[in-house]
Amino acid sequence: MPLGGGSNVVFAGDFPGLIIRIQIQGREIVDENSEFVWLRVGAGENWHQLVEYCIDSQLWGLENLALIPGTVGAAPVQNIGAYGVELCDCFEELRAVEINSGVAVTFIREACGFGYRDSIFKGKLKGQYIITSVTLKLSKQPRMVCDYPALQQHFKRLGVALESPRQIYNAVCEIRQSKLPDPVEIPNAGSFFQNPLVSEAKYKQLQQQFPGIVGYPQDHQMVKLAAGWLIDNAGWRGFNEGGVGVHEKQALVLINPGHAKGKTLLALAAKIQHDILIRYDVSLAIEPQVVD
Ligand code: NAP
Repeated sequence: MPLGGGSNVVFAGDFPGLIIRIQIQGREIVDENSEFVWLRVGAGENWHQLVEYCIDSQLWGLENLALIPGTVGAAPVQNIGAYGVELCDCFEELRAVEINSGVAVTFIREACGFGYRDSIFKGKLKGQYIITSVTLKLSKQPRMVCDYPALQQHFKRLGVALESPRQIYNAVCEIRQSKLPDPVEIPNAGSFFQNPLVSEAKYKQLQQQFPGIVGYPQDHQMVKLAAGWLIDNAGWRGFNEGGVGVHEKQALVLINPGHAKGKTLLALAAKIQHDILIRYDVSLAIEPQVVD
């Protein structure tokens, strides 16, 4: 199986097969016009270093995606997203090798099946391709996305006007560093659960029972619930047992400071899922890839 940085993978036990760590490097401008630059990046490049490079080169679009752990090749698999921007917003195409045939293939955006933290490489084509490079379409003009309350509050607190995307980059770095554990210091796989989608009717019913509940309206009369709020409100934040736990500043992040086995972490995840189902009648899906 191919592995990028390993930051979004949980091994349930020892893996008996071959693991290939993708370390393909390189950045190349493959096209350019007055508005955009098309940048092809090797799948093994570090994601955050790419974001830094783009900021320094005044190529815009990735600033909200700063400090996401992992590699460039893993980014489309999960369609990484943060603070209102997703990889697919800047994605042009990727190159991949089909594992069975060894044939190199190009996937354009429409072929990748991008969804919320999702792509065809997590679904129908799981385990079938090794992504070797990703081409991004980056803007020469700043295009700032700053709707998230966390960002707005940050700028309000600083009392500065938002004038450049570099400010967003700095803000995202600061906010993430203040509330998310660095996986190098405290082992974790980022957000452990996806934000669940419920119907508007269900959301209204939950609001009656839990007035502080956090939800964001989506298309098709659905509402995205903040899974972190559900877990926090259920009292799990700061919980520790058997070397694993729930991060004290962000309840969506499960941590493994005791270097426990994957199955211990997954047992805690199952307990939380069960509790959330009983309390709110809402199912939580695990976000990282679980390798059995
Ligand atoms: P937050 O700012 O405390 O917000 C809580 C949740 O509310 C987030 O999950 C976010 O959904 C949603 N939200 C907030 N403002 C929204 C808006 N204006 N419109 C729609 N949805 C909104 O979240 P956080 O946990 O500190 O994370 C901040 C950002 O970094 C989020 O985008 C989060 O997804 C991302 N992040 C991702 C991971 C990962 O491992 N995948 C880890 C850490 C942080 P979304 O999650 O859909 O954005």
